[in-house]
Amino acid sequence: MKNVTHWINGTPVEGTARTSEIFNPATGEVSGRVHLASAAEVDAAVAAAVAAWPAWRDSSLVKRAQVLFRFRELMYAHRDELAALISAEHGKVHSDALGEVARGLEVVEFACGIPHLLKGGFSEGVSTRVDSYSIRQPLGVVAGITPFNFPAMVPMWMFPIAVACGNAFVLKPSERDPSASLLMARLWKEAGLPDGIFSVVQGDKEAVDRLLEHPDVKAVSFVGSTPIARYVYETGTSHGKRVQALGGAKNHMLVLPDADLDLVADSAVSAGFGSAGERCMAISVVLAVDPVGDELVGKIVERVEKLVVGPGDDPKSEMGPLVTGVHRDKVASYLDLGVAEGATLVVDGRRTQVLGGTTAEETPGFWLGPTVLDHVRPGSRVHTDEIFGPVLSIVRVSSYEEGLELINGGEYGNGTAIFTNDGGAARRFQNEVEVGMVGINVPIPVPMAFYSFGGWKASLFGDTHVHGTEGVHFYTRGKVVTSRWLDPSHGGVNLGFPTNG
Ligand code: NAD
Repeated sequence: MKNVTHWINGTPVEGTARTSEIFNPATGEVSGRVHLASAAEVDAAVAAAVAAWPAWRDSSLVKRAQVLFRFRELMYAHRDELAALISAEHGKVHSDALGEVARGLEVVEFACGIPHLLKGGFSEGVSTRVDSYSIRQPLGVVAGITPFNFPAMVPMWMFPIAVACGNAFVLKPSERDPSASLLMARLWKEAGLPDGIFSVVQGDKEAVDRLLEHPDVKAVSFVGSTPIARYVYETGTSHGKRVQALGGAKNHMLVLPDADLDLVADSAVSAGFGSAGERCMAISVVLAVDPVGDELVGKIVERVEKLVVGPGDDPKSEMGPLVTGVHRDKVASYLDLGVAEGATLVVDGRRTQVLGGTTAEETPGFWLGPTVLDHVRPGSRVHTDEIFGPVLSIVRVSSYEEGLELINGGEYGNGTAIFTNDGGAARRFQNEVEVGMVGINVPIPVPMAFYSFGGWKASLFGDTHVHGTEGVHFYTRGKVVTSRWLDPSHGGVNLGFPTNG
């Protein structure tokens, strides 16, 4: 049985308070326990960060970059081990877990360029013999609170940049799949990061609340569901902190009649069922503009029926189980709800065959196969709720305008995609759609590390997206220096407002 501890001041630390069970989603069995930090344990991690911070802040940009380069190499060398830890607790297949490690590493690679990213501006002679320049400085201790669905990648959206900017970072990972955080902490230490600059407090609401109110935590990055994102944003900002809080999603794919339907079907199935639909950028609704609906549904079903569902560590598996039994039951409840709301259940994931087992509903573990609901009614709960599982809804619409209205009328604005061969329509869509990340013939338009990731509306609280230059901005604050070195031009006392001249 695993015993997942905190990581404070460069060493594993046993909790003294509550613990919570960790499951193997493929079997449903308990595989270990994770400690849940008390407020005092959070305080200990923050105190270690406060003590370590000044020396790290004052270390040169080049030295910080060198530590990041070493961390990148170590993470790459341990990618299989990391992916195996993720797969064993989250359930996603190994190749998918490797994919999240690779996307996270891209942010580390971006952060290796910190000497360039932190360059300020300089203006010589803004007034007579007066120069101005801008610099950006780290905030101090910053925290990251992350969801279960990307236990390595989402923390890596945050900490490489925060640490590179010269901050100390405290991570509060999801209690459902906490092990990846400890391996990353160990690799930071091996890379030469001073103790206290990267800490992990395992935990739940108690730990989150303490981080949100702790006076020494200057900024909080959060990724998770919308109700908690809103709570974290409101609580953190009311305690004077800078907060970026990314929430839930309900991503629509708009399919125009001129699209290549084989490409659309491949994309909808990949983006709908990859990671069992537990991705904030998953496609959960396909808006099929008339008359393509019947043909497209046929092509989607043909592909869905061939998907191989099985344990994440079996190389034959393309889709694994869901994260917990409670979550599986919640997702599965939408199948009957969808039918009650007037949709047609075209593929029933409860009957999917699981590798090494029987049907999804009879195999021990948290199984639900890929499910397709057709003729989903606009505005029904299946259409608007974030289900966060392997359930793809097809909504038939009569025009581009009707599809756009459904997307823009939704609560969320995380990701979306349009599939078409009409460049003019795609250009119009990118302009008119009220969503933060847009794909054109690309179903999961996750921005590269040198751009920034974030949605609109209930998918993000705050005004800064994560990673890229917005990440650098979030973890630093600006200062502008106006300087004059003594010369013979003393002008005497002048109470007027300084103007240039
Ligand atoms: P969650 O909101 O349940 O948990 C996220 C974090 O908040 C965890 O660390 C958890 O311990 C903590 N938490 C949970 N309940 C809390 C409470 N009452 N008070 C304080 N803290 C609390 O989310 P999840 O189920 O782990 O992850 C799935 C959700 O995350 C989905 O809604 C998904 O869309 C979203 N997500 C969004 C993005 C994005 O970029 N917008 C990315 C990944 C996941």
